[in-house]
Amino acid sequence: DCALLEILTPLLVSAKAIAQERKLQLITKIPRNLPLVHVNVKALREVLSNILDNALKYTPSGGKILLQVGQEQDNLQGIAISDTGPGIPPEDLAHIGERHYRGVQAQTEIPGTGLGLAIAKQLIEQMQGKIEVFSPAINSTIASPKAPGTTFIIWLPEVEN
Ligand code: ATP
Ligand code: MG
Repeated sequence: DCALLEILTPLLVSAKAIAQERKLQLITKIPRNLPLVHVNVKALREVLSNILDNALKYTPSGGKILLQVGQEQDNLQGIAISDTGPGIPPEDLAHIGERHYRGVQAQTEIPGTGLGLAIAKQLIEQMQGKIEVFSPAINSTIASPKAPGTTFIIWLPEVEN
C-alpha cells in the first residue's frame, strides 16, 4: 500500500526538467489527502514514466501536458495524463498496447520501440487496475477537434478500509 504522492513527486521532478527543455508546459493538479492505493510501487513507476515519456516526446514544443489525480470510480483512483499533441488516429488506437506497435506517424519521426504501452498495460492489469485512452477521434467529450491530443487515465485499486 502506498501514497500516490510519494511515487509521483520524483517522477514529476524529472518530467518537469524534460518539459522545460522541450518548451512544454507541465501542469499538475494533485489534491491533498488522497486515499492510499494498493499497488506494486516499482511497476507503477514504470507505468507512469512510460505514459509521461510519451506525452513529453509526442507533444510538439509550445504544447501542454496536464497530470490530474482525484477521480474515483468503483474503488479505483484515477490519474489522468493529457497532452495537446497530435492525438492517436483511430487506425493506431485499435492497436495501442500491442507489443512493438508504433503509430504510423511516430514510426517515421520520433524514436521508440513500441513497447512502452504494452508493458504499462500488462503491469496495470497485474495490479487489478486498468488503463483507458481517449483521443479526440473517438471521444469528443475529453478533447474537442479544436484541442487535439491524447488522454490516458490510469485507474488504481484503492486500499479498502
Ligand atoms: P517506446 O515507448 O517503447 O520507446 P513508443 O513510444 O513508440 O516506443 P508506446 O509507448 O507503446 O511505444 O506507444 C505506441 C504508439 O502510440 C506510439 O508509437 C505512438 O504512435 C502512439 N502514442 C502513444 N502515446 C502517445 C501520445 N501521448 N501522443 C501521440 N501518440 C502517442
Ligand atoms: Mg513510449
